[in-house]
Amino acid sequence: MVPRSPRFAKNAVEAQALGSRRLGLSVTQACPLRCRHCSVSAAPELGQNRLGKNFALAVIAQMDDLAAADITAIDFTGGEPTLAPAFVLPVAEAARARGIATGIVTAAHWAADARLAERFISRFDAVDHWDISTDIYHLDFVRLETVERAFRVLSAAGKHPLIRVAHHDDLTREDAELIQRVMAFADRNVAFQSIGPVGRGAELVSAEVTADESWDRGPCLSTGPLVRWDGRTAPCCAPASHEEQAHPLWIGDAFSLSLVEIVHRWRTDALLQTIRVWGFGPLVEWFRDAGLPVTHIFRSRTCDLCVAFLRDPALAALAAIRANELEHRIRLAYALLKTFGEPWLDQLLQREAQLYLRDGVWPNPHRPPLCA
Ligand code: SF4
Ligand code: SF4
Repeated sequence: MVPRSPRFAKNAVEAQALGSRRLGLSVTQACPLRCRHCSVSAAPELGQNRLGKNFALAVIAQMDDLAAADITAIDFTGGEPTLAPAFVLPVAEAARARGIATGIVTAAHWAADARLAERFISRFDAVDHWDISTDIYHLDFVRLETVERAFRVLSAAGKHPLIRVAHHDDLTREDAELIQRVMAFADRNVAFQSIGPVGRGAELVSAEVTADESWDRGPCLSTGPLVRWDGRTAPCCAPASHEEQAHPLWIGDAFSLSLVEIVHRWRTDALLQTIRVWGFGPLVEWFRDAGLPVTHIFRSRTCDLCVAFLRDPALAALAAIRANELEHRIRLAYALLKTFGEPWLDQLLQREAQLYLRDGVWPNPHRPPLCA
């Protein structure tokens, strides 16, 4: 059976829908590499920034609840998550025992020779899906021959490897040559992502303001909540997850809330769900209605626009208020049902309506509009 994970989606809408059933865990900020474009500014000396044994026990204790809440995929990322086996190994085993698909992102620095690589991945037997990162900046640390060896060893072990290539928006000759070399051994098991202006990447690329009306109308393609090494939970593993300031797309603290509550918040957050369904179109209308300047956030990629929006406290606060208006949430609940088959906001509104009928007061949405 094909696992229910965004990795195996047949189209963008299906990938979006499966994102609501996936939980990401950014296990550590440490990495043996120090790539120049790294979006999380990972580095070898950041080993203290990681999820440890205690949180592993807490996650394992909640695994039945996560499966009951229809979480079908758990992925480990970082930094280099294989540096935190005390967290990854028991959590992956507990997930797989409940039929939850498990995946990991790695730079394959461990594949210096085939025997070492076999021994290494045998420790991570409960992880099925391996995304191996490479690009022209990784090559300063891990040769493509090593990446190819990791791919072949994983394939031979019955795992599902995928090569993830980060590239410049305007593909360089070096990018193109690397992609050609990767496809020669990985065939179609390749995924691509742009290098963004986040973390150390901000020193390499920038996201310019676009001409007034040429901004990206596409929706948010979040692949689910991302619990970071410090417990703060971001709306995605894309650029918004690196915005440290207080803003309305933070989901909550996984060290104090249950993971099911975290997932529920992600699924019913009116602002996040608005951009998943409709992109930033409704928000731009709200800003213009309120007479707020907006063209400074326009970008040619939705995620870059999202970051510019989150960095403007006036726009962020207004959007959180407008998204949580009851009339908008009712329209949104209908759209989530019709577009993704997601019932959770509809169910929440029905519970709120019951409380209204009982108490005569409509309950507040689950959290204040702007939270850290
Ligand atoms: S391998 Fe990945 S996490 Fe590590 S420094 Fe490079 S981009 Fe960052
Ligand atoms: S639009 Fe924002 S929330 Fe959605 S994936 Fe991009 S950065 Fe994350």
